[in-house]
Amino acid sequence: MGRIIQLTQEIISKTSAGEIVERPASVVKELIENSIDASATSVEVYVEDAGLKSIKVIDNGSGMDKEDIEKCVLPHTTSKLHEISDISSIATFGFRGEALGVIASVSILTIRSRQDTDELGYLLRVDGGVFGESGQAGCAKGTSVEVEDLFYNVPARRKFLKSDRTEFRNILDTVIRFVLSHPEVGFKFCNDGGTVFDFPPDTGVDKRLQYLFGEAFTSNLLSLENNEDHFKLSGYVAKPLVASETKTNQFVFVNKRPVNNQLISSAVRSAFGGLIEPKSHPSFILYFTLPFDLVDVNVHPRKEEVAFYDDAAVTQFIKNSVDALLKATDLTYTSGVKNTGLLAGLDGKADYYTFNVLKDSVDVWDARTVGVTTDDNKDVIQLNRLYLIASEGNNLAIYDQHAAHERILYEQFLDAFEKNQQLNTFIKLDKAVILDLSIQQVQILMDNLGSLISLGFEIEEFGQNSFKILSVPDYAKYQDINLFMKEILEDLSQNKELKSVSEKALKTIAFLACRSAVKAGDYLDQEERSALISKLAETKSNYTCPHGRPVKVEVTSSDLAKMFKRIK
Ligand code: ADP
Ligand code: MG
Repeated sequence: MGRIIQLTQEIISKTSAGEIVERPASVVKELIENSIDASATSVEVYVEDAGLKSIKVIDNGSGMDKEDIEKCVLPHTTSKLHEISDISSIATFGFRGEALGVIASVSILTIRSRQDTDELGYLLRVDGGVFGESGQAGCAKGTSVEVEDLFYNVPARRKFLKSDRTEFRNILDTVIRFVLSHPEVGFKFCNDGGTVFDFPPDTGVDKRLQYLFGEAFTSNLLSLENNEDHFKLSGYVAKPLVASETKTNQFVFVNKRPVNNQLISSAVRSAFGGLIEPKSHPSFILYFTLPFDLVDVNVHPRKEEVAFYDDAAVTQFIKNSVDALLKATDLTYTSGVKNTGLLAGLDGKADYYTFNVLKDSVDVWDARTVGVTTDDNKDVIQLNRLYLIASEGNNLAIYDQHAAHERILYEQFLDAFEKNQQLNTFIKLDKAVILDLSIQQVQILMDNLGSLISLGFEIEEFGQNSFKILSVPDYAKYQDINLFMKEILEDLSQNKELKSVSEKALKTIAFLACRSAVKAGDYLDQEERSALISKLAETKSNYTCPHGRPVKVEVTSSDLAKMFKRIK
């Protein structure tokens, strides 16, 4: 007898659930999409316990009648697609008819809905795919869907979830994308009983951005608008100054659909070229509109990605649009200056600096000093404002000034942290610095408050998304504190998945060391060069920086002799 059987619908639903509903944020996404598809002008999202206990989305959209409510939770049921040919002109978020069926099979789902023309609404409960309580119910016009105990019957998926904080951040990111893609729709978002934000319909994108990301970010946005043939691009691109190490501040909407699109991100990145550091990512909020038949939205079960009919044309258009904007703003000059140190030796302008540095730092060779033992020669050469070159016994030692300083600071921070005490060198600021943060940054700050305080930061809450910095560790006093803090938060945001506190602390320490150390391109005077080298000698490990790059390279006298063919 054959061994092949056809899977039951129950097994199919549960096994394929993960493709559509991967985590609580995916439920939030599907429910908001349904509300917008139902022409809602107001959407309220309530989550409890990072969405695991409950996710509730209430809208004032078209609503459903009894028959549709009973159908919508079945597998593959939709009102949005009737013919396969419709798929090329799809204007709604949904069309696959999968989401509610899948969600209903892996949670306890309660749906209440009323159409404008009906006096009473209808309620239906589905528990793990099995129909439960149902009947007429009084409710406002529109639909509310509540999803409780998500994945209670799929332990494997539940085990796969990250910490509550991470899951909550994913939900927040998801809601923010819709807040920005649909400024005409009102959005209220509540977490564990507290209101995170409440935007009435028609609050412009600029107001929403300001509230979510703070003044420091929005004041650096350049607005963009470009139309060419079938393509239309609008939105904001942030000045190079607010580029970041992650892509968290990149928002792409294609025909109002929030998507992850590598092609558009790369096109914008290439327009920035050398304006930002090689590893940095520009920040932007871009709305790209094109005819429906030039984009395929059905390439991903969660519809998070899209494919373009003509990739090259899209890349070209996006790149040109951003390019023109950046050129018009004339930012090129700043970057040239900024990169001088790194580019030293590579172009004419940089050579000029190198020349000056060498001129200042090298004592003119005097033939009479030949024969003096090398130990007496303590002058340190700074090459390309990056390398320190000194003698060490009979050997030649070359240091990377940034890496060396980083290593010294790393050990100091580590030491202070291990003693579990504040650095005694923290300083009270004359004037408290006010930090305006985005909602995501607030999450990260709260998450890491403990380690920051133990490093010497004194931080107080100061109204909506604002914090007061009262003290900072000594090493930070010359920094632009606002920028410094944001960079720290940025880096910490990459720690999302780090489990143990100590691992997190180590990363923070490495990061602080890196941010506070002298950079490539910084001029050091003779005293500073020597101090750096002798201080490095005191560290426990002076061979690599916290990122594993070498701090010091030694060329021995016999290596030198070989180079000059004195010996073989
Ligand atoms: P899809 O959105 O792909 O059609 P779903 O499973 O998400 O599939 O939803 C199934 C159907 O249920 C939708 O096509 C729509 O007719 C109906 N529906 C779902 N949510 C709502 C809502 N909030 N308001 C009105 N109708 C809804
Ligand atoms: Mg849907």
